[in-house]
Amino acid sequence: MSIRTIRQATLRSTSALGLGLLAIAACAPSAEPPPSAAPQTAEGTVISDIDQRLAKYSPVPLEPDLSALSARDRQALDKLNQVSNLINEIYLRQAWAGGPKMRQEIAAWKDPKARAARDFFAVNFGPWDRLDERKPFIGDTPRPKGAGFYPEDLTQADFEAWIAKHPEDKEAFSSGVTVIRRDGDRLVAIPYSKEYKEWLEPAAKLLNEAADLTDNASLAKYLRSRAAAFLSDDYFQSDVDWMDLDAPVEVTIGPYETYEDDLLGYKAAFESYVTVNLPAEASQLSRFKERLPWLERNLPIPDGMKNFERGTDSPIRVVDVASSAGDARAGVPAIAFNLPNDERVREAKGSKKVLLRNLMHAKYERILTPIAAKVLDPAQVAEVTFDAYLNEILHHELSHGLGPGTITKDGKKTEVRLELKELFSTIEEAKADVMGVYNILALIDQGEMPAALRSALEPTYVAGLFRAARFGVDDAHGQGVVAQFSYLKEKGALEIDGAGRFRAVSAKFPGAIRDLLHDLLILQGNGDYEGTKAFLEKYGKAGPELRAAIGRLSDVPTDIRLVP
Ligand code: ZN
Repeated sequence: MSIRTIRQATLRSTSALGLGLLAIAACAPSAEPPPSAAPQTAEGTVISDIDQRLAKYSPVPLEPDLSALSARDRQALDKLNQVSNLINEIYLRQAWAGGPKMRQEIAAWKDPKARAARDFFAVNFGPWDRLDERKPFIGDTPRPKGAGFYPEDLTQADFEAWIAKHPEDKEAFSSGVTVIRRDGDRLVAIPYSKEYKEWLEPAAKLLNEAADLTDNASLAKYLRSRAAAFLSDDYFQSDVDWMDLDAPVEVTIGPYETYEDDLLGYKAAFESYVTVNLPAEASQLSRFKERLPWLERNLPIPDGMKNFERGTDSPIRVVDVASSAGDARAGVPAIAFNLPNDERVREAKGSKKVLLRNLMHAKYERILTPIAAKVLDPAQVAEVTFDAYLNEILHHELSHGLGPGTITKDGKKTEVRLELKELFSTIEEAKADVMGVYNILALIDQGEMPAALRSALEPTYVAGLFRAARFGVDDAHGQGVVAQFSYLKEKGALEIDGAGRFRAVSAKFPGAIRDLLHDLLILQGNGDYEGTKAFLEKYGKAGPELRAAIGRLSDVPTDIRLVP
């Protein structure tokens, strides 16, 4: 299992706040033998605990508030929701070539377990459990690492040998928007526009129709250029137009993340977010962007380690999701994202952060609140608020843009991520959790956020740590979450009563958060791999109290799934 496979299972869940590691490159996977025959689909091959697996996801209907939209924008939204259906069809094939056939087979099953199997297949876009390291829940065939992007028997070595012999193929083969297929003895790269023509052509037509309907010029421009990209495979201009998009209907549709490709990490998976913009919410949050230089200066590290180079002009949107599709709803759905990934667009225009309010709210109600009730001191349970949760998520995201990034080590210019290697994402997610709290406390002290937020902040953060810890305290990513518990406990900022309930100790909390952030940033600023390893070894092991508290959460769902 490569690092990326672990990340895939936990991609949207490793931080306390459940955010993705959206811009973090993965390590090179190793070559493995080709998988055997296609999974068995007989009804008897469904895993026995399928009902419990499905119950880990609380079903949530999407109920966006459309009242602010004009009649024409509502019609445009309907067209875009139809595009989401087409994106699901493409993604099912990207996740695994055998997906459509198996979906058809299980649709005819009559076994008592069939319904749960169908729903779980829909959540996972295939027969492999995304919350269980992609192990099979129908049949026993391992998931092909190259998903549906490559021939299933193709190894990394085969791919590299082909490129070595045919250097002229390198660009097309490593492109994010081609699939690799066999043509007799040859390997060929087929562009997405051709491979997925059956869905991309009607999708382009619907995008153009939606462009004709909307009165918003920036939306019409993006929809038309993205429609053209579906047919040309050139996404650059439409990514630029997406950055300029400022409309009542905020939409993100296309091939973006490459995590589904565990063979080489080249191929982008299709996804869509069709959403309704909530400008009032965004303007409340956007003012913090202007404070980023001050927040950088305020970090508890020597000035020489601070990073004043980074741009701060990236827009923030807060939206309600009307429909999402493909990669966006496979397994645990993300509650925020930061796009585009194209470095050329990021350099020219920055990137846009989009927070998905109705999904956050669903996770808050279905997951965070019941967790708080079971693990926090009863007096602190009532202090947990959605407002604190939303602010922690925003400041977690903003924190990824603060602190050491490009550093000098042994006289050489390098990057934190390169020096910390496979430990980087663990420590970076923990940093963003802790810095988010540190920054909110600092802004409260400055009078820029309400003092009333203080009492909600700490218990909401602790409940969030438990939410993240449930994805596994023993793997690499869980260690970053466990380390936050252990460190705060050591400093007296977390206490555990005789009934095993956790309480944030307000008198000690801000100081402990500051110290923890300092230690994490110093490890990053020095590019200190050995130090990071030692830190995670010291603090990253879950103790009996934490394990017992997590054990009490067994009947709280792990995450949400969107229905229909
Ligand atoms: Zn993050």
